[in-house]
Amino acid sequence: MVLSRTSNEWPYWTRGRGVFSDDVTEAIATDVQARLTLASAQMEQILDIGLGAVPDVYLVGGQATLDLLSRATLVDIGWEGGYYRSHGFKPGIYINANRLRADLESILVHEYIHHVNRELVGSKYLPVLPIWLNEGIAEFYKYELGLGRTRPDAFRRPMISGAYNAKSAAISGSIFPLSSLENGAEWNNRAEPEEIALQYDQSYMCVRYMAEKFGLSSPFNVLNEISTGADFPKALRTAIGVTYEEFESGFISWISVWDDPERSGVQRYFQELDVLLAKSHEVNKQRNAFLKSGASNNYQAYGEWIANTSEIIRTLAEVTPPEAFRDLHRDADLYFELMARWLILGQIDSVEEANELIPELNVRKDLINMNLDSAKFVRNLPGSSLSYSP
Ligand SMILES: [Zn+2]
Repeated sequence: MVLSRTSNEWPYWTRGRGVFSDDVTEAIATDVQARLTLASAQMEQILDIGLGAVPDVYLVGGQATLDLLSRATLVDIGWEGGYYRSHGFKPGIYINANRLRADLESILVHEYIHHVNRELVGSKYLPVLPIWLNEGIAEFYKYELGLGRTRPDAFRRPMISGAYNAKSAAISGSIFPLSSLENGAEWNNRAEPEEIALQYDQSYMCVRYMAEKFGLSSPFNVLNEISTGADFPKALRTAIGVTYEEFESGFISWISVWDDPERSGVQRYFQELDVLLAKSHEVNKQRNAFLKSGASNNYQAYGEWIANTSEIIRTLAEVTPPEAFRDLHRDADLYFELMARWLILGQIDSVEEANELIPELNVRKDLINMNLDSAKFVRNLPGSSLSYSP
């Protein structure tokens, strides 16, 4: 196809250190270059080999332009927000930059891993590489490298929801046979959103299984075997010591009982915290009902609420929070302590002093609930009021 610079539809590329963009801000282009350089260094360390120059990146400001480009460069874009083209006119990574930063980073790393995979397999044997392995490695490192970033939750949420999506499919029997995830035509032909999501999620979990069961380098060892001319089943057998059939049945058994280790630990902690928050809520409810009823004998009633709150504080002290939730744990402790102080002031009729604590009590309570809610949301845990379903 001949490209016309005069066409209004065609983006005019501005060059900046290997990143070209049309209507994308320079700040984004600079970030993309930095992220790509880092991803390359990270992958070199993981693989313990030099990977050479990073591919050029073409950032476009919208999906329509990206679709136009993919047609012009004869690439079937499939369902990704970007694509990687290894040869021909302007090879490189093409991305629609008009999206959230974490998404942009994810697509960039995903597409870059396709470049790495191709380098390892070599263009001659690229058709031997099953799509599920190519996509699975790209997804695996998109998440792995993302979890090391300053805002890991932006990567954790799609990772966990994808992993459990694949697990449910394995349990319900709707998971794909791996033989149907091998070639690009079949892959790109699936049009149902659930099927599209599942093929990526399943490929991701296949590679995760391979990495956890046979070693982190095992997916790349398979790629190296393919680069020597082995067909896929042979490459797999040589690299990880099992047949394709054994690998697939092992994967199904593994994923059917799989649980995210971080998520299970966090879930137990949240359940304990939820119980204590419910107990403190109950104290508040009893106090409100008591005040409304106009009953006397305040001192004794307050004594009971203070005792209950002290018990909450003692129980919390015996719970060890997961590393990532030490701040939340401390916030919960401060909230319960403040509540106890407020109740003590109420008991001795220091109404004014007690009332002064109410704004802080409310802020602390909202803050804990908000943080707890978003931490559940990120891990696809029940009990989050944020509307989300995988
Ligand atoms: Zn891909």
